[in-house]
Parts: sequence; structure tokens; C-alpha cells
Amino acid sequence: MEIVRKISQARSLAKQWKNSGLSVGFVPTMGYLHQGHLSLVERSAAENDKTIVSIFVNPTQFGPTEDLETYPRDLRADLALCEDAKADLVFCPGADDMYRPGSCTFVEVSGSLTAGLCGASRPDLFRGVATVVTKLFSIALPTRAYFGQKDAQQLAVIKRMVEDLDMDIEIVSCPTVREDDGLAKSSRNSYLTPEQRVAARVVSRAVFEGERLIAAGERDPVKVTASMRKIVEAEPLARIDYIEVVSAQTMEKPEKIDGSILGALAVFVGDTRLIDNFILHV
Ligand code: AMP
Repeated sequence: MEIVRKISQARSLAKQWKNSGLSVGFVPTMGYLHQGHLSLVERSAAENDKTIVSIFVNPTQFGPTEDLETYPRDLRADLALCEDAKADLVFCPGADDMYRPGSCTFVEVSGSLTAGLCGASRPDLFRGVATVVTKLFSIALPTRAYFGQKDAQQLAVIKRMVEDLDMDIEIVSCPTVREDDGLAKSSRNSYLTPEQRVAARVVSRAVFEGERLIAAGERDPVKVTASMRKIVEAEPLARIDYIEVVSAQTMEKPEKIDGSILGALAVFVGDTRLIDNFILHV
């Protein structure tokens, strides 16, 4: 497995592979890897000749009061995990290389896809994500890129961006990997105290309840979100940022549950913001 820090080194390897007719799978991450990330890497390694993983805590997607400085990092452990998961190249650039002095170009996906849910509470998030993913795509030259459904709104934004900008890249959606008690795996789970970790179970319990109600025939989004809300509100250590049921394609709120539906929530447990969701086709 190659480990490179410079954009020019990563691009030169990617080009070499592309020019030899090899398929390249790409998994962008912010590191502190867990089994959720590794499921993407393993799938890419199974479906492509070469797999590139990027590890980059992207400053442009963090707001001024968010956790950029404290975001967990462990490059040595990440590299060992990537090697085990059969990555061929790990690209871990510095922020100064990715955003050089004078850099002032951003990619913005506008409208309903980014206005609500995480876009409402984190206004810098999707512009930062779309920009860094575009840059990483132009360096890694992937045939396919792998994203987790855990970040369902991000996935929808990336799919839209790839279509709108005519990028010749297949976006592959991968299921959410969970802990045994249901909590979606996340690098940010490491912020939780033992007490908060127990309290955090309400997040996935709310997801499973929303899913269950719709599968049982409930079609009123207000009733579904009310039941999800009740579960979270029963936990004193949890504070709801949002709980919504929207169209999985447009992120708009429907009158009635129909078609592809995304039930999504963001909940603070202490200072840690956790997200989770379900997607159903009814
Ligand atoms: P991050 O490092 O949080 O930016 O995540 C990098 C990629 O891993 C994104 O495509 C995430 O959606 C995906 N991911 C993160 N957590 C999980 C999980 N629990 N299950 C599946 N994919 C995940």
C-alpha cells in the first residue's frame, strides 16, 4: 500500500492506473476510521482493480464554532486499517496543500437538497463537502466513489453534483454500519462519556421506530416524526436538533408519505451532535 501526502504524487499514481485501463474505486474520509468506513473500502477493493482512500479533515466544511480542532485523529491506526481492508493508496494531504493561498473557488449545490436538515443547522457543511469532493475526484480520477448512507443528505448532494457537473463517476451508496446496540458507528462517538454513550441509544431507537411505523402502514409524516421525537425527548441527556421525514430525492417535506422517503434526525448528546436516518421505498 502506498501512502502519499502530495497532490502530485496521488494524481500521478491515479493517472498511471487509469492509463493502464484499471478501474479505480475511491473512498473519501476524514479519518479516525471504524468499521463503517472500512465497509466502504472493502467494497471498493472487491469491485475495482485499485482502491484509493483519502484521509483529510476538511476545514471548509466546519463552521466557526464547530469541532475542527478537536476532531479525533489517529493516522497510524488508520493506515493499518486501510492496509487490512486492501486499499492500494492512502492519500493524506495537509490543509495547506489542499487550500493554497489565494484559493477562492467553491462548488455549491443549491436549493432544497441543501437548505434543510443538516444544511439548516450547519450552513457551511455542504459547500465545503461539494468543494473538497470535487477536488479529490479531480486528483483520484475514480471510476467509482463510495459513500455511506449514514450521511444520506451528503450522498444525495454528491449524486446531484456529479450529475449536474457531468462527472463520469459512479456513486455507490453503502449501508450504515451500527454498533451492537444500534448506534450508527461514527468517529464522533469517541466524544461520548460512558453515560452519554448509553443515552445515545435513543437516536437509533427513534430511527427504528420511524421505520417500523411506516412499514406498518403509517403515511402521515407528522405522526411518524412525533413518535420519533417522543423517544428522544424521554432521554434527559439528549437535545433534538431536527427530526424530519422528507423525500429522499429532493429533501422536500411531503404532505403524505409516498415514494422514496428519508427519515432523518440530528441529536445533541452533551456537546456531541449525532445523526442517523432510514430510507424506505413505499
Ligand atoms: P467521514 O469520515 O465521517 O467523513 O465519513 C467518510 C465516509 O464514511 C462517508 O461516506 C460516510 O457516510 C461513511 N460512513 C461514516 N460512518 C459510517 C457508518 N456507520 N456506516 C457506513 N458508512 C459510514
